[in-house]
Amino acid sequence: MASEDRFSSDGERGGLAALNDLFDDTSRPDARRQGLISSSSIGLANRGRVLQVLFDLGPTSRAELARHVGVNRATITGIIQPLIDQGILVEGEPLPSKEGGGKPARPIWFAEDAAPICAVLLMHDGVHCCLVSLDGTITAEVRATFPEDAATVEPLIDILFDCVGQVLDLAHRPPLGIGVAAGGMIDTDTGTIVAVNLAPLLDGFPLGQALARRFGLPVRVDHHPRALLVGDRWFGIGRGKPNFAVIYTGDVLGGAIFLDGHLYRGPAGAGGELGHTFVQVDGATCRCGRRGCWETIATLGWLRREALQRHLPSCEAMDSRSLALLAMENGGAAAGLLDLYARNVAIGIANLQQTMAPNFFVLHGDVVGGGATLLEAIAAHMRDLVPWRPGNDIQLVMGDLEDRAALRGAAGLILSELLHFAL
Ligand SMILES: [Zn+2]
Repeated sequence: MASEDRFSSDGERGGLAALNDLFDDTSRPDARRQGLISSSSIGLANRGRVLQVLFDLGPTSRAELARHVGVNRATITGIIQPLIDQGILVEGEPLPSKEGGGKPARPIWFAEDAAPICAVLLMHDGVHCCLVSLDGTITAEVRATFPEDAATVEPLIDILFDCVGQVLDLAHRPPLGIGVAAGGMIDTDTGTIVAVNLAPLLDGFPLGQALARRFGLPVRVDHHPRALLVGDRWFGIGRGKPNFAVIYTGDVLGGAIFLDGHLYRGPAGAGGELGHTFVQVDGATCRCGRRGCWETIATLGWLRREALQRHLPSCEAMDSRSLALLAMENGGAAAGLLDLYARNVAIGIANLQQTMAPNFFVLHGDVVGGGATLLEAIAAHMRDLVPWRPGNDIQLVMGDLEDRAALRGAAGLILSELLHFAL
């Protein structure tokens, strides 16, 4: 069966159409700018609000949902019953009733076997695809690396399509859509890759359009660090937090900000290029061609060059994990480098904190390997770099090293449309 016809049998199309009825034009960026919600969309907006509260609270009874949303139980039932009937939500086993008796409450949560979302992580060196269930469970993972000697973009796209196709074939139900977290500069309005410094073959590739045409599913593309943030927001440590930021370090450096309950994207997704904010006037030349970017002092390239200069062992493969181990075992030069790296990472975070005042930071990528030692070192430098003010406690936490948050976040891009919740 050709991929375009993958889900075209009548029965399957019926199921998909029923689920896709959840999508509505009010969730699209251009529609959101129109101002008033049409009367026909109010129901969808209310449903989005209820599901957003459900995501923030986790499995929750109707009564609790009603209390948090500020409506009565009958209203909640009117909103969630159709979703239960469609197999998107389920009622769990009754919870033991609280003191005073009453009917035992049954928690509402997302059905494990509801249609999944195909999530794609596209980085400069390869692709990682999977299925994500509405409760964030990841299955059917497929990975592939790109050949280093490719002369054109086609072999890379063939590999991407092949991975996505394999994952879609493993879905037990037609997926709701394809969410993509992509490294590099992304135009989120068009789903186009603007530029990838480490994989220029991908520059200008209309990724969203190409995937939608090939697989016939809704596609959303966003910048990798923003997908990390969405993953933390929907399924992880950022759940329910009105303000927080995500920082990703590794071969490159980027970030994303959640402010006053909304993901900040900037025009066409131009926000969050934190790796190219300046930290050193006339500093080292960056891959972007400018000088003194944060990325030049807080990524693996810097760490490995410094490790070489300090004659540390295995410097060409040095990362935060091996540096933290070395610092713990030997102290000396390794401990000095770890502290300097922590300071370099903290400098950019301090600049962001002073600009937008997020006080909760989730660190993802290579730094996570440095564990508690590196986290405490970064936090100590933050305390030095950020002027104290009352009630301004800053918290740094480690996210994940395996990019699970990015995959869940890529799924969350589709989910936010499904739930009519503007990220
Ligand atoms: Zn730069």
